[in-house]
Amino acid sequence: MTETLDRTDRETATPRYDDAFDVIVVGAGLAGSAAAVTMADRDLDVLLVERGRYPGAKNVFGGVLYTPTIRELVDIDEAPLERYIAERRFGMLTDRDETAVSISPGGWHEPPHNDSYTVLRGEFDEWFADQAVDAGATLLTETTVTGLVKEDGRIVGIETDRPDGTIRAPYVVLAEGGNSLVSEGADLRRRESRENVAVGVKEVLEFPHHENAIEERFRLTGEAGASYHYFGEGAVGEAFGGGFIYTNEDTVSVGLAYRLSDAATTQPDPEGTLNAFKTHPKVAPLLRDARTVEYTAKTIPEGGVESMPELVHDGAVIVGDAAGLVLNNGVHLEGTNMAVESGFHAGKAVAEAASGARRDDAALTQYREDLTDSFVVRNLERYDWLMETVQSDREFLFEELPRAVADAGSEYFQMDRAPKEEHASAARQRLLEAVGGYTGAAKLAFRYRNLI
Ligand SMILES: Cc1cc2nc3c(=O)[nH]c(=O)nc-3n(C[C@H](O)[C@H](O)[C@H](O)COP(=O)(O)OP(=O)(O)OC[C@H]3O[C@@H](n4cnc5c(N)ncnc54)[C@H](O)[C@@H]3O)c2cc1C
Repeated sequence: MTETLDRTDRETATPRYDDAFDVIVVGAGLAGSAAAVTMADRDLDVLLVERGRYPGAKNVFGGVLYTPTIRELVDIDEAPLERYIAERRFGMLTDRDETAVSISPGGWHEPPHNDSYTVLRGEFDEWFADQAVDAGATLLTETTVTGLVKEDGRIVGIETDRPDGTIRAPYVVLAEGGNSLVSEGADLRRRESRENVAVGVKEVLEFPHHENAIEERFRLTGEAGASYHYFGEGAVGEAFGGGFIYTNEDTVSVGLAYRLSDAATTQPDPEGTLNAFKTHPKVAPLLRDARTVEYTAKTIPEGGVESMPELVHDGAVIVGDAAGLVLNNGVHLEGTNMAVESGFHAGKAVAEAASGARRDDAALTQYREDLTDSFVVRNLERYDWLMETVQSDREFLFEELPRAVADAGSEYFQMDRAPKEEHASAARQRLLEAVGGYTGAAKLAFRYRNLI
């Protein structure tokens, strides 16, 4: 059954869908479409249900799409990609200074470009869901899943907001993203605490009066792009988080992600915080004369392995952000690759279960095992310690260190008639003062040794 349904057939279409599918996927984001492609490729009848007018219509993200898994599933060369990432730059901001490190290996200019591309989700998600439809899945848009149907403890279908909106199927893949109301409503996961969730705000900006603004300001040629990451008080004030600028083909995505608990206390106004970041003296020149064409806000799960829900239930599996699979720690902001990888493993497991090759529960459990062995859980485990450590060093990392590094840099390169030796010594002194002397530096290096 290959087709796409939308508003036109909204009033009549639902009933014939009952029991017509092997599996229902809730949400046509990256995780949902990855699962749908994987299962349709294995000849399952797949129903992909999306609340948006089209897949991606409601999706928010920075966004660099990381493609190592997705290129195994579909022909990524056909995808609506904006630019490949040729430079990653990390800047520490005080209220007026910046100290930055730029990483730009020559190899990133060659395919597959380190599997990192900027995309606009409105375009990309629609294309990706189309790949699932081409593989044989049915896409049902403008349909919100409102609950799950349970019989004798097993999940056997979904409730939707369509008239007569119950649709039954032997398996359900929950790929509804971070705002996982369906999974929470069915007690498959609990609501995250504010300490484990970040608020993400993002604007897309265009440069109506400067044709080559992106190339000139970010020093780019051809299809090369850049991702700029910022932290320190100049990025998010007193909040725990950071800012970013990503170059698309003709626009830039500018945004912030910081703890939801700070959105309730130190930085209660995300729009105001974003404006302060955009007008920071080291950021503003990159965005001069730009016009905002889109503003979006969304939550990002960042609780790591500790807050992952049970992934496998009787008749259902949870994937992507709905399962808390995001690595957001200041150095990495990765969820796209994890969403696709989890959708892929879940799709394989459901296909196995539906084929009857293995007992149902054993086959679905394979999803948890494969995910645990994959980079997804291993990366989350590797950085589990980092958030807590950064949180406890928050004032030092976001305020004192950026100031000390900026002061030390300015001192080291000070141009006057004093011998360099004096400036070098003063710069060293300033850094040592900030880190608590040689002992403090050694303790710090030990605390963060796992970063390398
Ligand atoms: C501001 C911000 C910046 C980010 N930057 C990056 C980045 O640069 N790189 C990166 O790798 N990751 C980034 N992420 C994380 C990344 O966006 C997510 O990890 C990824 O999108 C998760 O994919 P998903 O398919 O699980 O969920 P989503 O992309 O959220 O997709 C969920 C889908 O389900 C649909 N849906 C939800 N509820 C229902 C329902 N009840 N019924 C029907 N449909 C429903 C939604 O409309 C949506 O289409 C960022 C996130 C944010 C918020």
